Parts: sequence; structure tokens; C-alpha cells
Amino acid sequence: TSPLGALDPEVAAAVGAELHRQQSTLEMIASENFAPAAVMEAQGSVLTNKYAEGYPGRRYYGGCEHVDVVEQIAIDRIKELFGAEAANVQPHSGAQANAAAMFALLKPGDTILGLDLAHGGHLTHGMRINFSGKLYNVVPYHVSKDDMRIDMDEVARLAREHRPKMIVAGWSAYPRQLDFAAFRRIADEVGAYLMVDMAHFAGLVAAGLHPSPVPYADVVTTTTHKTLGGPRGGVILSKAELAKKINSAVFPGQQGGPLEHVIAAKAVAFKVAASEEFKERQRRTLEGARILAGRLLADDVAETGVSVLTGGTEVHLVLVDLRASTLDGQQGEDRLHRIGITVNRNAVPFDPRPPMVSSGLRIGTPALATRGFGTEEFREVADIIAQTLKDEPDEERATALRARVTALTDKFPLYPALTAGANG
Ligand code: PLP
Repeated sequence: TSPLGALDPEVAAAVGAELHRQQSTLEMIASENFAPAAVMEAQGSVLTNKYAEGYPGRRYYGGCEHVDVVEQIAIDRIKELFGAEAANVQPHSGAQANAAAMFALLKPGDTILGLDLAHGGHLTHGMRINFSGKLYNVVPYHVSKDDMRIDMDEVARLAREHRPKMIVAGWSAYPRQLDFAAFRRIADEVGAYLMVDMAHFAGLVAAGLHPSPVPYADVVTTTTHKTLGGPRGGVILSKAELAKKINSAVFPGQQGGPLEHVIAAKAVAFKVAASEEFKERQRRTLEGARILAGRLLADDVAETGVSVLTGGTEVHLVLVDLRASTLDGQQGEDRLHRIGITVNRNAVPFDPRPPMVSSGLRIGTPALATRGFGTEEFREVADIIAQTLKDEPDEERATALRARVTALTDKFPLYPALTAGANG
């Protein structure tokens, strides 16, 4: 057995069971991915032992010569990857990155504009009981009811009326690209900072398959574990003149010692993200989402009241619209879970059902693309999902659908070198 298995069989068993779950099901939560084994090796390294408050070359602890190398590599790589002037790779998560970026540029009580949570925004963009909603005066903007796309006229109108100090662009559940130039024009008109949270689509940007916010925004935040495919964590990119403010807002403003083992893992992930293989994977990610949207828009599905928000997708996810269906988000999530497909229910804009039930499903393709899925497999996945959502599978149909899922997971083994024994 492994050291973990020997010391703590209970935790080892749960880790092993989670490995098996990931290997034997189809992971389609849009914010998840599979980090390469090399990323996990870096994250599981002795760097976890090191205190390194401060920044490379300017630490408050001795013995930082090696973690300095690691953190500088991470900074240099992500600046290069996105063409950014400055980078802070220390935020422990996406929420921490957003908190620090706002802490750097705003004072409590300042006004910010952010996409409403119920319309696809993130908690940190101004949700009432999040730090952002408590510390700042939040004015939410929305998608328009006719096309379910962000209403840029409303953004401009609210900006003129409320004169925000910051406009936040970015989303957790939205299937279209944002118009960064339009956000910039509005921010300039009212003298606001533009912050773009590209957590979801950063991998697509890195691959050149989605417009980059970096030339337009004063500050760009991201997570490193979604389409970017690295360890769980956050990053802040900014213009050079804001770098000092941002660094001091992260440490000592918001955090203590950086997680240098995670920063090492981020550095490895950024190396991967600059590769041709990564671009090709992001291409398959987008293709998979388009195939899924297309299948769910077909007549046999449409006639059951199941639809696709905005009529398609330009990113790595599809938002299934169940407002006109008797099936709700909770039931849809459960139905797919039963046959081995993991998704999350998600409120859609103007949702008539309560948030815990909801009328939507958010379905993403990044993890399956990382697993190796291409056109043929995504067609099969899309059909399995369509068949499952169309009508409730009885025992026999559910078994057959589960077998189709298993055929796919068997075709693309995940973490083949990590047996349950070796990982726990
Ligand atoms: N920003 C966006 C747009 C997100 O979707 C998320 C996560 O869901 C976050 C920030 C927060 O990231 P984390 O969960 O790492 O705090």
C-alpha cells in the first residue's frame, strides 16, 4: 500500500473511490477538468512545507531560493501565455483573486456593475451575501429577455446613471462571447476600471479560440482549474501600473503565505497551455459543445419542451433551457447522474422555478476533451444526453444508456497509471 493507505485507510479509501468515480463516469460539469499527473505531482511536492510571504526576491522568510525560481517561472509563463504586462499567481482561488483585485482598486462603498448571479454572473460579482455584495454598492446588469444575451444598452445606461468605479465582465453560466471593446468604451465613458473575470474561458483564450480581454481590461482574473486545466487556484493579470497595488492587495492585503506547491503546479499547467496539444484539445472542447447544442436543438428533443439557451454556444458549455419542459433542473441532473453523466442544474434567466430546483442544466465539454474525446465520441455523448432528457428511461433503457457511457469511459482510460491502490 501507499504511505497514505498505510497511515490513513479511511481517507485513502475515499480518495480511491473518487478516482474510480472520475474514471467510470462522464464528467460534464463545465467548471471542472482533469489536471495532468505532472501537475498533481508538483502539487503533491515538498513545496507544501515552505513559508514564502512576499514575492520572488523579496521574501519575509529565509530559504526561499527554490520557491522563488518556481514562482518566477509561473509569473513569466502566464504573462507570455496571455500577453499580460503583470501577473500575480498567488491567489488561492478564483474568489480570492477577485477579492484581491477589487480590494486593490476599490474602497468599501464604491459602486460596481456586475452580471446578475441569476443571469449567469458569479457570486463574487456582487451577490448580496458575498463579500462583493457586502462591501460594495452593487448594480447588477442582465441579459435581455428576447435573445438571452447581455444587454449592452442596459450596461451603458446603468453606467451613466450610477457612475461605477468598476465594471466587471465575466460569467459562470453564459454560452456566448463577450464584447470586450464595448465594455471598454462604456468604462472609459464613465471613468471606471474594467475588470474581466475570464475564469471559465481562459483556456479558450490561451488557445487563441476566443477573443482576449487582456488588451481591453485594466485587470483580468482567472481560475487555473477550469478550461485552463491546471490545479485549483487563481491568478490576477494587470497593466504594469497597477501591479504594485494588486500585489499588495493579495499579500498582505488578503492572504498570508502563498501555496508554493500549487504555484509550482500552476507553472506546469501554463507550460501545457502553451502547447499545440492544448490548442487542439480546446478545439475539440468547442466542437463538443457545438455538437451537443445541435443535438439538443433537434426536433425529437425540441418537441418535449427541452431547448438550448441562445440557440447554441460559442464556448465550452451549453445551457439547457427547461422552462417549457415538465422536466426541471433537479430531475434532469438526477436522470443524467443515474446513467453516469455528471452535470449541474443551473437557474436560467427569468427562471420560474426556485434556484434549488431551477429550469436549467449547465453542461460542459472541457473534461471530456482532456480525456481525449473527439467528434465521434461527442456525437455519442450528445445522443445519450438527448435520449435521457427526452423521456424518463425505465430500468431497461437506463441500463442500456449506462452501458453506452461505460463503452466511452473504457475507450479513454483516465489516469491509467493511478490505480486505486497507488493513489490511496
Ligand atoms: N469567477 C468565475 C467566473 C467562476 O465561475 C468561479 C467559479 O466557479 C470563480 C470566479 C471562483 O473560483 P473559485 O471557486 O476557485 O473560488
